[in-house]
Amino acid sequence: MAKLNVKDLDVRGRRVLVRVDYNVPMEEKDGAMVITDATRIRETIETLDLLVGAGARVILAAHLGRPKGKREPSMSLRPVAAKLADMVCRPVAFVDDCVGEKVAKVAGALQNGDILLLENTRYYDAEEANDPGFSAQLAQLADFYVNDAFGAAHRAHASTEGVARVIAARGGKCAAGLLMEREVKFLGAELESPARPFVVILGGAKVSDKIAVIDRLVEKADTILIGGAMAYTFKLAQGFKVGKSLVEPDKTVVALAALEKAKARGVTFLLPSDNVVATPVDTGKLNKKGKPVIAFENPRVLKAADIPDSEAGFDIGPVTAARYAEVIRTAKTVLWNGPMGIFEDQRFAEGTNTVARAVADATQRNGAKSIIGGGDSVKALNQSGLGDKVTFMSTGGGASLEFLEGSVLPGVAALTDAC
Ligand code: ADP
Ligand code: MG
Repeated sequence: MAKLNVKDLDVRGRRVLVRVDYNVPMEEKDGAMVITDATRIRETIETLDLLVGAGARVILAAHLGRPKGKREPSMSLRPVAAKLADMVCRPVAFVDDCVGEKVAKVAGALQNGDILLLENTRYYDAEEANDPGFSAQLAQLADFYVNDAFGAAHRAHASTEGVARVIAARGGKCAAGLLMEREVKFLGAELESPARPFVVILGGAKVSDKIAVIDRLVEKADTILIGGAMAYTFKLAQGFKVGKSLVEPDKTVVALAALEKAKARGVTFLLPSDNVVATPVDTGKLNKKGKPVIAFENPRVLKAADIPDSEAGFDIGPVTAARYAEVIRTAKTVLWNGPMGIFEDQRFAEGTNTVARAVADATQRNGAKSIIGGGDSVKALNQSGLGDKVTFMSTGGGASLEFLEGSVLPGVAALTDAC
């Protein structure tokens, strides 16, 4: 069901509560929190420009980190207000709470075109509990609700779901923002009847994270290319030796079922034929999180399909990467979720980079639509410098995965249906 869009609202002089995803990475520098990547802020500017241009009084709500109901100072959104003001070249007011009298007063005094950012909604437990009273307090602040936080739309929280229900119940309108609209279009509608060949590339850490997506996409894709650690669970299921590779032995049954389903539907399902392997060695040191630091020694290309007991697979090998690239270059639609190896380590990034170049080529030279979902996949593409050579990169992370699985996202479901 299509949802009402922010473009359809008559917002002049009205207060609009906009849920945004400002859960940006920050680092402490000389006692202050500094934003290290403002992508999520930048992605909302189109919606904000539209609202400000139309004379709305904009109230922004967002969460940052996991303060678990406490006023954790390092998770304050105050630095985001300053950054946003720089980016939109206009003042952005900030209030150090998200509900209550003080907030109501500041929100009530807004003029047309003003922007106000509220403090972290997760300073209250009531946010994640989707508490009706808290939702009602948020709803009181505004005439309309706009959700532009696709990355938080898979959670039924007060600021993503409850508030929309309250506004709808009083006959008010709740609309999707422009970023939300784009995400739903590319991860949803565009993949309903994709131009063919439709090539799906899946990788990353675990089969269990992606099995629902695999199951759904087997019904739509012409070819599925598998990389990352999850490839080794498939290999294990097929009876190959996987050495110390990251595998989920309890997922071999679902892996085989996916292979069977692909075969029955005539979908080409490719697994790596060669790998970059290395020997994991415990350094005896612990990282910041208290986990053992493992060094990967003697990386090498292994042509044989079986991985020796002392080694693990950390990237697809060059033969596999070339084969995958060849398939991708002929595609008219590409969906990519999950890197092909531990791309964070240059020694295991080549498979991911080769695939990234092929996806960019398919887009630029073959007119393919290329859609990238998954936080690490987007990171990998940006790391390879090809982020602007694909059709669409999702901001969604976990939300994009759930959406690709075909789940109805609570934050989307709660919006007003378009008539
Ligand atoms: P996304 O965020 O794009 O959905 P995932 O979170 O599923 O991707 O997986 C990304 C992680 O998987 C990366 O941190 C990467 O280092 C890791 N990874 C990829 N291949 C391997 C491998 N062969 N062994 C261990 N970890 C891997
Ligand atoms: Mg990830």
